[in-house]
Amino acid sequence: DGGAYFYGLDGEKFLDCLGGFGIYTAGHSQPEIVDVVKAQLDRQGLHSQELLDPLRGYLAKAMADITPGDLQQCFFTNCGTEAVEMALKLARFKTGGRWFISTVRAFHGKTAGSLAVGGKGTYREPYLPLVQQVTHVEYGDTDAMRKAIENLEFVGEKLAAVILEPIQGEAGVIVPPPGYLKEVRQLCDEHNIPLILDEIQTGMGRTGTMWRCEAEDVMTFGKAFGGGVMPITGFICRPHMWSQELIDNPYLLGSTTFGGNPVCCSAAIATIRFMLAHDIPGQCRDKGAKLKAGLEAAWKKYPKLVDEVRGAGLMLAVEFADDEIGYAFSKNMYAHNVIIAGTLNNSKTIRFEPTAVMTDEEIDFVIQAVDESLAQVQADMG
Ligand code: PLP
Repeated sequence: DGGAYFYGLDGEKFLDCLGGFGIYTAGHSQPEIVDVVKAQLDRQGLHSQELLDPLRGYLAKAMADITPGDLQQCFFTNCGTEAVEMALKLARFKTGGRWFISTVRAFHGKTAGSLAVGGKGTYREPYLPLVQQVTHVEYGDTDAMRKAIENLEFVGEKLAAVILEPIQGEAGVIVPPPGYLKEVRQLCDEHNIPLILDEIQTGMGRTGTMWRCEAEDVMTFGKAFGGGVMPITGFICRPHMWSQELIDNPYLLGSTTFGGNPVCCSAAIATIRFMLAHDIPGQCRDKGAKLKAGLEAAWKKYPKLVDEVRGAGLMLAVEFADDEIGYAFSKNMYAHNVIIAGTLNNSKTIRFEPTAVMTDEEIDFVIQAVDESLAQVQADMG
């Protein structure tokens, strides 16, 4: 219905503050998107593989229009991890370099390449060795990044790319220090290394602007890109990354059977239209500020339970003094019919990534539920 709720089998209503890990920015089953998808389904669901599909072209053009700078060559995929795989392969293909620098606690997906640049041992260890030419540095630390680049160059290794999230999502919504992304951009320029920014979670308005960053050679996108209706992801890159060899034969990079299919492209096109027509980034900014203020007030009131509130737009997190408090808090929120959840790489953190269509009254309801849930935790834990 385009709203902010999930409904249970018996008609119970759950205010969704998890947003499917950030896919429901445009609301649930947004009719302006669903209607377009239905119309496309009636016409043609999947594509021929051989004939050029016009929707893929329209979507690529729309993406070039709404992304920063001269980002313009798109490759569409089916899930976030696949988009990251393609971006990593593109970087190796273009540069001939083999090494990647990523960050500790980063999350880029769970297939072999994206997991290799992921930053948590629990998920990597059972599968090692993955792509082995990866080194991880502390997120937000420009000096660490500089040292890693210089060290690799000193010992004769060639870099393929630096990969970063503009805000680390699964690490617990870690916002880097001001200037960090620009400094990394500068380092990459000085050393002629492509910079991949993974906007799969931060993109499509989530943090209060359509994209979080404007400094990349390759940007990956996903999650909310399909409007919470269809799964579609991909990357967009600057022209110098898409070499003549790939113009001649894009199959050298990837040949995904379902990627960029008409029905998913129709969802993404309708989503972009919806986001622009309703200023969804602006709504994320304003509603995020209101929700954040409410969470900060709760932090002040329960300083022994809450360690920090952080984030931008509607990508917010509360870090608790320990994970048990977080679990108890989530359970209490659920009893108030509000859905929230943790992040994959930081168990002390609970995320808030609601829809942007949530009303002011619904935000007030969430803030009230947060207050009552924390009071309950305090009473239960003494
Ligand atoms: N990159 C980032 C920044 C993510 O947050 C995620 C998922 O949380 C992914 C990649 C992987 O996306 P998917 O789960 O669609 O493979």
